[in-house]
Amino acid sequence: MRLLVRGTTQLVTCLGPAGPRAGEDARDIGVIEHGALLIDEGLISWVGSEEAIPRGLSPTQELNVEGRVVTPGLVDPHTHALFAGTREKEFARRVEGATYEEIMAEGGGISASARMLRDAGDKEILAQSRARLLRMLAHGVTSCEIKSGYGLTTEQEVRSLRLIDALSEQIPQDIIPTYLGAHAIPPERKKNRPAFIDYIVNEMTPAVAEEGLAEYCDVFCEEGAFTVEESRRILLSAQRLGMKLKIHADELASSGGTRLGAELGVETADHLLRASKADLEALRDAGGIGVILPGTCLGLGKTGYAPGKLMTEIGLPVALATDLNPGNCFCENLPLMMTLGCLYAGLTVEQAITAVTVNAAYAVGLGEQTGQLELGFWGDLVAWDAQHYQELAYHFGVALANLVVKRGEVVYETAAQYPVSGNMITQK
Ligand SMILES: [Zn+2]
Repeated sequence: MRLLVRGTTQLVTCLGPAGPRAGEDARDIGVIEHGALLIDEGLISWVGSEEAIPRGLSPTQELNVEGRVVTPGLVDPHTHALFAGTREKEFARRVEGATYEEIMAEGGGISASARMLRDAGDKEILAQSRARLLRMLAHGVTSCEIKSGYGLTTEQEVRSLRLIDALSEQIPQDIIPTYLGAHAIPPERKKNRPAFIDYIVNEMTPAVAEEGLAEYCDVFCEEGAFTVEESRRILLSAQRLGMKLKIHADELASSGGTRLGAELGVETADHLLRASKADLEALRDAGGIGVILPGTCLGLGKTGYAPGKLMTEIGLPVALATDLNPGNCFCENLPLMMTLGCLYAGLTVEQAITAVTVNAAYAVGLGEQTGQLELGFWGDLVAWDAQHYQELAYHFGVALANLVVKRGEVVYETAAQYPVSGNMITQK
């Protein structure tokens, strides 16, 4: 199969220097006006302008996107997309002014999701999660990370990660699994925290590692969740068992999580709303990526978004993610995060595009496979109902993805109000 994609207004290649990008490097997104490309057996084998299409390309299929912008498939590097049941009542209570403590006392919060997960069957969890992944696909997401974390026991954490693996067989996207055994301390464990940390380190983490279920280990390092000392112990034990590291850091308070991440050499530190400039410089010096999750701030009705402008200016690469979860950010719309990243975190439109492609791919270890329309990379791309790439952040809250290609195959297209592939693809 050799698929030629043509008819673009702009082909946003995101080609540029190797590695995640910050500052001016993140503003160069490699736009080719009226660009075209060829995907050969799932991998990109030619990129250039429409006028320069070589005669000898001999595609077997042609996809004419009829005046749309084409970008790489988006990567969502931070989601909690595997869960059972929803918590809309908590949203309604929060809107009415209930505090987190009150909601917890009413049986809400992460333990509510843990209960629903435990009580749901595998089939039901997979069906619900698959629907979310397909909504993400409709927003242009062709690869994403999914965390466990609603298990709170070894049995349920291992089950969650097995389900994430099973889910990856049922959807077009590539999935990166992350183990988040340290998401919350169950209420009944709060009286003896050290015993719960021992349990995570001595039993839960080795069980996950033994089955090779996760590429990353993440910890919710925050006031009210896990302390810096507890997080260090958990992350180090996972690192020794071969997992790469991530950390939820400095979201609600400046609690030392970003510094700990730098000390341990995490691949990413996520949230960072309350991280200081010195914390962010330490993360930069350790080679980390800062993942910002503006949907969570929106979902909590808060102000004080992560300092994306400062981050990229000091040379810390920024990625954007949805943080899709049933508590404070039930949202599959990654392009909306670009809008919020521009308006509230101070990114330019180009930096926001880099943050959901190149940098997001590096944030999940896929920087050499996807995130750019580079020769030899996966043939993952999105044709948007937009003529200029700036519209992707400007025209917000709607599904602008018109057609999504994963490894050279059309895996999503919008309803018939727009031309569908029957019209757009011609066999050669
Ligand atoms: Zn999260």
